[in-house]
Amino acid sequence: MPSINLPAAGHAGPVVPGGHAYQPFANAGFVRLVQDAFAIITPRITGHAPCNAAFRALPNGRTFAALWVDPAIWINFDPRNVSGDFGATSGNDITITAFSLGMGKWTVAATLVHEMAHVNGAPGNTHAAEGTLRSCLLADHENPAIIGTRLDPVLRIRTAAA
Ligand SMILES: [Zn+2]
Repeated sequence: MPSINLPAAGHAGPVVPGGHAYQPFANAGFVRLVQDAFAIITPRITGHAPCNAAFRALPNGRTFAALWVDPAIWINFDPRNVSGDFGATSGNDITITAFSLGMGKWTVAATLVHEMAHVNGAPGNTHAAEGTLRSCLLADHENPAIIGTRLDPVLRIRTAAA
């Protein structure tokens, strides 16, 4: 699985002047939310063929399952809490914002899948990364549906999976 950047990990995330922060998670509640998002993704999404096909079509050509077992991909924390700003990616480093975490584990899961698409080469100026959510059982978390909205994600993910 991707590695969660905890203080003990000693992982130095990228420094992006004027951009997103890539910090260790110091808040145990936020760590638990990321782990809860992992618990959504690992059993439901990594084995979902349309999701793996969508990821294989991205520039780096790795399946979602292949990315999800890669511990060289790091999940970092960004304390920014700006509505609509969920996360960012730099190389193999993903960062999840406090805003995203405040929306709950389903939004964190959707953000992780979106950012994984960027790790896999999805450009930052197209809908390619966000578009993977439709193939990865997270269709109802695709922007703009998640902005300012708390959906009933259990019901909707079942609908999407049907
Ligand atoms: Zn993006």
